[in-house]
Amino acid sequence: MKFSGKNVLVTGASRGIGAEIAKILASYGLKVWINYRSKPEIADSLKEEIEKSGGVASVVHFDITNENEFIAGIKAIIESDGELSYLVNNAGITNDKLALRMKTNDFMSVINANLTSTFVGCREALKVMSKKRFGSVVNVSSIVGERGNAGQVNYSASKGGVNTMTKSFAIEGSARGIRFNAITPGFIETDMTKELKEEIKENYISNIPLKRFGQPSEVAEAVAFLLSDSSSYITGEILRVNGGLYT
Ligand code: NAP
Repeated sequence: MKFSGKNVLVTGASRGIGAEIAKILASYGLKVWINYRSKPEIADSLKEEIEKSGGVASVVHFDITNENEFIAGIKAIIESDGELSYLVNNAGITNDKLALRMKTNDFMSVINANLTSTFVGCREALKVMSKKRFGSVVNVSSIVGERGNAGQVNYSASKGGVNTMTKSFAIEGSARGIRFNAITPGFIETDMTKELKEEIKENYISNIPLKRFGQPSEVAEAVAFLLSDSSSYITGEILRVNGGLYT
């Protein structure tokens, strides 16, 4: 895969899908900025792992829900390396409850983390990338943002918002040479799905045409494609990575 730019910021890259995205993008020759929120030692060990494999990485700490911290994180990258060509808005949370029991705070915390933070990331990327009239942004959304799910009124609203917001950013970004796309993973084996009860997991798997959960690396390869020059005529697209569960 070909990349014309140099630096990529991956939010929530300390574990799960984000860590895999960081590793794969480093293997394609990008300098990866690993964003973490809570565990510096895990972010540092990912940086070491990437460097041992011949890649280049740096660590940048911020909480995506803190707008000032997010903006300062991007500023630090520009001050260090002079450019940011790629952004992956990956960090996200769940806070599942049936709607009848969901407090407004439970709803808003997920909207803030998944939707508002992605908005801030996209807007700041648009500002920075506009200067070079080049850039590519991938938002990690979810299958649940397309089809809904019980217990996830908050999560589905946030990810549905990410999908349509990505299309709007794509229209605004195109005049400046900046592409915006999203991917909607189905069930992927990470900490986020680890807590599912075995019988619920088996029930989900029976409905997935490929008969298994996906691996983080399978999402990461799709992200790399959408970021890279290989997808240079694709913008505003929502790419499904879900084993055929929703087509
Ligand atoms: P995960 O294993 O729970 O990891 C989430 C990552 O996001 C962690 O690195 C976490 O950092 C970080 N994060 C959360 N809130 C943050 C904040 N406020 N600031 C900075 N970082 C923050 O989740 P995952 O499964 O890899 O999910 C990654 C993305 O894929 C999410 O957007 C999720 O919605 C989406 N997705 C996942 C699945 C799935 O089946 N796993 C399916 C569809 C979509 P800490 O270590 O500090 O908590």
